[in-house]
Amino acid sequence: MSNSTVAVLGTGTMGAGMVRSLRRAGIPVRMWNRDGSKAAALTDTGAEAFGTAAEAVAGADVVLTMLFDADSAIEVVRQADVPAGTVWLQASTVGVEGIEQVAEVARELDLVLVDCPVLGTKAPAEQGQLVMLASGPEEQRAALAPLLDAMGRKTIWAGEAGAGSRLKMACNAWLISISVGTAQSIALARGLGVDPQLFLDAVDGGPMDTPYARMKGANMIAGEHPVSFGLTGATKDAVLIQAALRAAGVSDRFDAAAVETMQLAVDRLPDPGAVDLSALIVGLELRD
Ligand code: NAP
Repeated sequence: MSNSTVAVLGTGTMGAGMVRSLRRAGIPVRMWNRDGSKAAALTDTGAEAFGTAAEAVAGADVVLTMLFDADSAIEVVRQADVPAGTVWLQASTVGVEGIEQVAEVARELDLVLVDCPVLGTKAPAEQGQLVMLASGPEEQRAALAPLLDAMGRKTIWAGEAGAGSRLKMACNAWLISISVGTAQSIALARGLGVDPQLFLDAVDGGPMDTPYARMKGANMIAGEHPVSFGLTGATKDAVLIQAALRAAGVSDRFDAAAVETMQLAVDRLPDPGAVDLSALIVGLELRD
């Protein structure tokens, strides 16, 4: 399927980067985004922008959805009138219940579902360095390899469709833990009258160090939060993780504290849709 045409539905932060990576590999891309200006901004890559999802999907072999959540992915795929038998490469983070709803819609519309959430953020999406958490029919693996290789530095095939989304929950639970943990240590150092940069310097290069903590920590210290993974999307994920923990019979106490902190930050910020996950540090401030 190396010359297969991909319809990308959703060219937000991640979808835009994925379009760039697909085009760099020479893969034909048709694209649509609700706010059309975001798709139009990508036509320099050679990808074609369309005014409706249905137009973008016409003639595509694979439909890639990179939307906010399960509801938006399902809504858009229904609107797109995707022909039966088309591969639906679903990459949005939809959670455990969400992927079941997606699978039901795929069955109803007779689409071949490949569940493929991703690890990585804005820059890895642009650089083709994501980790593709794929799951779905064995016979799709070889066919989809050129597309997955264009977007990712590696693909993990987790099993039948749905396993990728379940694996994604475990991975994002880790991401949320690091992010909230970093915020807590920075706020704590600052509150105790210690330069918070010294916390990052102290762990630098040792077993407790992680590039993610350094990246998010730098934002938190500077008080600047340019979007790489948006706070509202990350909060949506923390809520999905809570549901996943409950479904798995695991305590959600730890994640519940993260959800509470992140939602508090969302409530306190004037434009939570325009800031990175790192802005969650605002949720740790004790206020009257
Ligand atoms: P984003 O920049 O906020 O993009 C969200 C996309 O969904 C936009 O194209 C948006 O359209 C569209 N959308 C939202 N609601 C819609 C609706 N009701 N109907 C039609 N389109 C709708 O988010 P993102 O960071 O690219 O994330 C996309 C997905 O990837 C999410 O599931 C997220 O959890 C996951 N993810 C993100 C990261 C990351 O680091 N950013 C990493 C891994 C996975 P408009 O542009 O018109 O608003």
